[in-house]
Amino acid sequence: MGSGLPIEAHVTNAEMTAAAFTANEIRAGRKLFAVDWQFVAAANSIAVLPPMRGLEIAFAGRSNVGKSSLINALTGRNALARTSHTPGRTQELIFFSGPGRLMLVDMPGYGYAAASKTKIKAWTALVHAFLQNRANLARVYLLIDARRGIASVDDEVLTTLDQAAVSYQIVLTKADEVAAAARDALMAATRTALTRHPAAHPDILLTSARSGAGIPELRAAIARLMAERG
Ligand code: GDP
Repeated sequence: MGSGLPIEAHVTNAEMTAAAFTANEIRAGRKLFAVDWQFVAAANSIAVLPPMRGLEIAFAGRSNVGKSSLINALTGRNALARTSHTPGRTQELIFFSGPGRLMLVDMPGYGYAAASKTKIKAWTALVHAFLQNRANLARVYLLIDARRGIASVDDEVLTTLDQAAVSYQIVLTKADEVAAAARDALMAATRTALTRHPAAHPDILLTSARSGAGIPELRAAIARLMAERG
């Protein structure tokens, strides 16, 4: 049984995401991320964004969704993105890059219950300005906790992304917390929630930073996007 598990997880995930990747794409994804990722800059306003270089992929999600863990899993760095032990921490866009053309952007978490109106306004202003001014932003991955599904606070962000006319896709996190038997229902519910957001990429990626499930596929998706954008 034991040695069969990773393969089973891989196959299950490929079926669930409906986003099939070739072995070459999986390899390209692995190669793209097998570099030395470094912190580049933190920006709390668009006035101080780092210069545009190459292509950017941004990660957004509610606080505690597992965004830092996912970025760390993708880059193979345990502490590149700081996990948020202080919910509602500084509202900053954090930029990471390796030696290549790809820049990763960790967007500030939203939806922290105790966030003040001022904080929410600051988040919205920063995110709107970023989405509207970043010509090299190739995609936003919107992270959704697989145990919770798309909540109303996420729905507002989906609307923001629709309005910004930016390419975006849903990534479900913490897949290890959802029993295999419940995954079909989870994917179906997520698809239903997305019917009101036709601008969203139709494929839903299911990941777990903890087990590593879906991480090769997410890397492959990013590698595919890089190839498409030349
Ligand atoms: P962030 O606030 O979105 O950056 O979320 P973090 O990465 O700090 O994670 C929030 C919490 O979720 C932490 O307690 C993590 O250990 C946990 N977490 C993150 N990823 C996973 C995962 O894939 N599976 C499980 N079970 N827990 C996770």
